Amino acid sequence: MSSQIKTDILQGDLYINGKWVSAPDQSYFESLNPATGELVGICAAATKEQVNEAVTNANEAYSQWKNIPIPERAAYLTKAAQLFEKRKEELARVMTMEMGKVLHESLGEIGVVIATAQYMAGEGRRLYGETVPAGFPDRNVRMVREPLGVVACITPWNFPVALASYKIFSALIAGNTVVWKPASEVALSAKIFVEVLDEAGLPAGVVNLITGSGRTVGQTLGEHLDVKVISFTGSTEVGQKLAEMSSKTLKRISLELGGKNAVIVLKDADLDKAADGIVKSAFTTTGQRCTAASRVIVERPVKELLVQKVVELAKSMKIGNGLEEGNQVGPLVNEDQLHTVEKYVKKAIEEGGRIVTGGQRVKKLGGYYYEPTIIENVKPNDTIAQEEIFGPVLAIIEVDSYETAMEVNNGTIYGLSTSIYTESLHYANRAAKEAVSGLVYINNGTSNAEMGVAFGGMKMSGNGHREVSHHVFDVMTEWKSIYTNY
Ligand code: NAP
Repeated sequence: MSSQIKTDILQGDLYINGKWVSAPDQSYFESLNPATGELVGICAAATKEQVNEAVTNANEAYSQWKNIPIPERAAYLTKAAQLFEKRKEELARVMTMEMGKVLHESLGEIGVVIATAQYMAGEGRRLYGETVPAGFPDRNVRMVREPLGVVACITPWNFPVALASYKIFSALIAGNTVVWKPASEVALSAKIFVEVLDEAGLPAGVVNLITGSGRTVGQTLGEHLDVKVISFTGSTEVGQKLAEMSSKTLKRISLELGGKNAVIVLKDADLDKAADGIVKSAFTTTGQRCTAASRVIVERPVKELLVQKVVELAKSMKIGNGLEEGNQVGPLVNEDQLHTVEKYVKKAIEEGGRIVTGGQRVKKLGGYYYEPTIIENVKPNDTIAQEEIFGPVLAIIEVDSYETAMEVNNGTIYGLSTSIYTESLHYANRAAKEAVSGLVYINNGTSNAEMGVAFGGMKMSGNGHREVSHHVFDVMTEWKSIYTNY
């Protein structure tokens, strides 16, 4: 923590009850550019008291906000969508400087934010209830969706604003108010996001931004009696802790967690298309996606040729600072993540894996760069075939049949995304049925999300809730049943 505030760098403050406030003891943490090591800015580390203050204000704002007609709530989101359009270049640059993804990916992510605001504004009109035939004369029975109160949104750094938009906009349109805790690495991007909501005119207290350590802020939110919902995206480990904390106050918790996603390639597949899908899923965002492909499970007769094609594409990817045009692979988010990747690659070699390409830090570039790495001769139970790495590392596993491929695919604790490349209608349909994962892609990589389609994972990749589509309202609302005798 640094107590010095400089003026030539960005400053991230807290946003509580419609006002920007600093940390009371001037406690700030640094946001560093992973491409250069330079200081991007400093961000306020909230105290426990400030987290409580944000929740109290959000709770007070809730009593007004929930009674505002939905089309009026939607109008704030529509306005925000227009304002994001105006600030997208600036926001994209800050995102790239904070967490390293290449600029066109950052811009694409802001496109998702805009689309989510528009989608959720429309979904408000469709927050339908149900009528049920009454069992008695002169009675009607109906069920309506109601908001719950304060929603705590806790988000990771790999998608600094898109994941926040899924949570915040669905919470707001349903009539809830929000306290948002973004990942510390991307606190300045979060600040710009909230500045836009402020400019859109959201009433004070409806959205609050609290930055600071996951342990202090996250834990306070997790245990707070007045927080009614936790919507969390992040690691399985932290998700488990939050679930434990939430159980004490019986709050609802939605968990979007890690993955160990695979691309299955059968011997009849179009190998050029498969190689393209694999490389895009494995190495864009430097492999730091929950849906990144980290295993290729390939039928033996086509393994050699597939690997050759994947290696060729991986080698052609331009590594470098995400702000510079033409670069396709940025740095890893921080030094810890770089060491994690190095540790897993070392372990893979110890367990018998063979590096086909990559396997090295790109030292000459200075930042936390790591080469797109492909490791063959990996066995299904090896460490790199089981644990989430969150970096540009791809394990190649050879199998003799579709059945073994699916067994290997399902043989991890995770169940987020599965892809299969095949020309066979039979195997494509079997994969759709037999993959134990929330997302299945046929002749497409593992990483793709369309607006309106439920997003989420099975097994340890989540706890059964879904985002992006209207199914998110199963998290953001609860049912009330109303009986009227007339
Ligand atoms: P993380 O370490 O779990 O952090 C996620 C968020 O939780 C951050 O805001 C973090 O704050 C906060 N946090 C940390 N410790 C906490 C605690 N004890 N109590 C409450 N909150 C706490 O995850 P990450 O490294 O940011 O992101 C990578 C992970 O996210 C990967 O596992 C990836 O698969 C997963 N992910 C999943 C999805 C999905 O939709 N399934 C999407 C994207 C990412 P600090 O930053 O201050 O520590």
